[in-house]
Amino acid sequence: MPSPVVYQVAVPSPLRRLFDYLPPGEARQALKPGTRVKVPFGRRQVIGIIIKTVQKSSLPLGKLKPISAILDLQPLLSEPQFNLHLWAAQYYQHPVGDALAASLPALIRKGEPVPVETVTHWQLTTIGLGLPESALRTAPRQQQLLNALQKHARLSTAGLKNLGISRQIIKQVADKKLIESIEVETEVTDWNKSNILAEAPHKLTRQQSAALNSINTNTFNTYLLQGETGSGKTEVYLQLIQTVVETGKQALVLIPEISLTPQTLQRFQQRFNCSIAVMHSGLTDKERALAWNAARTGRVPIVLGTRSAIFTPLANPGLIIVDEEHDSSFKQQEGFRYSARDIAVIRAQREKTPLLLGSATPSLESLHNCHQGKYHKLTLTGRPGNARQPQWQLVDLRQSQLKTGFSATLINAMEDELAQGNQVLVFLNRRGFAPTLNCHNCGWIADCHRCSARLTVHKSSNRLLCHHCEHQEPVPLACPACMSSQLQFLGQGTERSESLLEALFPETPILRVDRDTTRRKSAMQSMVEKMNSGKPCILVGTQMLAKGHHFPNVTLVVILDADGGLFSPDFRAPEKMGQLITQVAGRAGRGEKPGKVILQSHYCDHPMLTTLSQRGYVAFSDQLLNERKLAQLPPFQYLCVLRSEAPDVRDADQFLRLARQHAERLAPPSPQFGYLGPLPPAMEKRSGRYRRQLSIHASSRPRLQQLLTLLCQQLEQTPLGKKVRWSVDVDPVDMS
Ligand code: ADP
Ligand code: ZN
Ligand code: ZN
Repeated sequence: MPSPVVYQVAVPSPLRRLFDYLPPGEARQALKPGTRVKVPFGRRQVIGIIIKTVQKSSLPLGKLKPISAILDLQPLLSEPQFNLHLWAAQYYQHPVGDALAASLPALIRKGEPVPVETVTHWQLTTIGLGLPESALRTAPRQQQLLNALQKHARLSTAGLKNLGISRQIIKQVADKKLIESIEVETEVTDWNKSNILAEAPHKLTRQQSAALNSINTNTFNTYLLQGETGSGKTEVYLQLIQTVVETGKQALVLIPEISLTPQTLQRFQQRFNCSIAVMHSGLTDKERALAWNAARTGRVPIVLGTRSAIFTPLANPGLIIVDEEHDSSFKQQEGFRYSARDIAVIRAQREKTPLLLGSATPSLESLHNCHQGKYHKLTLTGRPGNARQPQWQLVDLRQSQLKTGFSATLINAMEDELAQGNQVLVFLNRRGFAPTLNCHNCGWIADCHRCSARLTVHKSSNRLLCHHCEHQEPVPLACPACMSSQLQFLGQGTERSESLLEALFPETPILRVDRDTTRRKSAMQSMVEKMNSGKPCILVGTQMLAKGHHFPNVTLVVILDADGGLFSPDFRAPEKMGQLITQVAGRAGRGEKPGKVILQSHYCDHPMLTTLSQRGYVAFSDQLLNERKLAQLPPFQYLCVLRSEAPDVRDADQFLRLARQHAERLAPPSPQFGYLGPLPPAMEKRSGRYRRQLSIHASSRPRLQQLLTLLCQQLEQTPLGKKVRWSVDVDPVDMS
């Protein structure tokens, strides 16, 4: 007698394994992988997803419990779609149940039915049905409504409006209990393939056409479109999407952040007639599930979203675009640490669609893949129209008299631009007033007691804030150590620059953009409007300014302090610095007027700064790639970081020592495998927990994967593994 089938189910659990269940009580046909089920788990009932069927469990059959309920008659995802989630969980070494929970819309993972889009319709009630045709003749509009519903049985609010019947009339008749509303599922309609444009596209420049024509839309290939800000990449995306959507296929577009760049979404909406599903973290659970389902059932041709949108299933996949592919927000830094850009490569390959990565400052990984011939590189050099590339000037801070961060050269240059009616952008990647509060008398420094970090002074709220754990406290009136009142603010953040600029340029409006000023949704929009008015003003802000904005009247971009990335322990810091500076500099001279960039540094002759400012990002990235090659760092090796944290530093340390022992037993140190750590990261303590990290380098990706899979299984079993918080970060982008 064949043994009964056993279902292996992924449940939301931190364990990297599946759980076995028997078929549900009633005899039914076999359940397919991807079906959501309710199962007993411990003392609770949880929602799980069937991953596979096996003939035999490793547990005795008597110990297995049956599935309690089946939630879907058909799996919501096709097998290839579902397999992408499984691949990502495996590759990023994350517990599969947890990974699925993180990559599916909340409603779906909570076991709710897939929501359907509905439209309100109106129909007669039983009282209404009993009325004669002319029952409401004293009120002609109401009479018209009655007759319409006698004729059509059911009409939508919009349909009634077309007949000239307002909401008010509907309400009056509904109040008489003659009609009632019902929700009717919207019909699945195809978009009109011959009429998807709402505006005429630009005539492409020669380079844009060449780029567009190189992309084969019928097969998988990865293309990297490198073009400076304003060189016309977005126009290439729009026309490529057009080609794909006109053949009835869907396009998935990933961008780093939607709220910061409302302009991107606006441009898509302006261009296309057809609907665009927008997926970002600001959606309600219902909205997200609706958008997800519209994409899944092929009802929307274009999906525009942030990182997690990479998991949006498409009925007719035709294209994936990742804009600003270098942006670190595509890598999730907590929990399920996946890279949406890297998953896009696997996804496009499996779905046999082209993948277009775009950036003014491509990641070293993608450039390396181009050099290796894995990606096709497409380049845009000029800017369409008159806009020219900006001119650079380096200001040596060592010889400057500084007015809290502003050299005299800088102030003069700003005065000149403003006098000519232009706008100036000042970039400083640090919010708050000052990064340090100290005592001039005894040297005391305001530290966060929960993190190895200093507290930042915020003047407007008069508080000290930890930017790492959100701890806050009032600014003390006297030094807590020696009672002296000689407290001083060291360094500067955007808040301080703003007040200094107000003093230096009393006639000029100063706009500040950082996480503190843009908490309100409308703040960014109102800043953009002020900038677009074109009047002279100074915009001061953090990296939020580097993203996607088009300010035609900015002629001078100031980088107050370029030194941050030069001497960081994080090997990716120079790359990030170069990208950020190039992106910010790209805000200068995007309109008719030429632009200028002034960069202040204490190390003006540092080769990274000279290459970047004199020869541009391409030469800069080549130089960095050479350094990475010499040091055998990614992308020349594969890297994984294991992190642990615990209230007791010994536990955090001990756990990773153990991890290293296990790992070295599985893959002894060799030219193919290297280990570093456990070491304290740059911030050793965060939110009251001590942190350690262990890096594993390998020359082969599959071999690193094999090692990690075995290692994680072993570590899960160790008692210490249950005591400390630990995580695995495959292809880490943030080493701090
Ligand atoms: P990027 O995405 O590289 O920053 P965009 O596509 O946003 O560049 O182009 C910058 C500006 O130039 C936009 O205002 C865009 O409308 C305009 N533009 C792009 N391509 C063309 C073209 N072929 N002809 C005229 N204007 C163009
Ligand atoms: Zn003191
Ligand atoms: Zn803190």
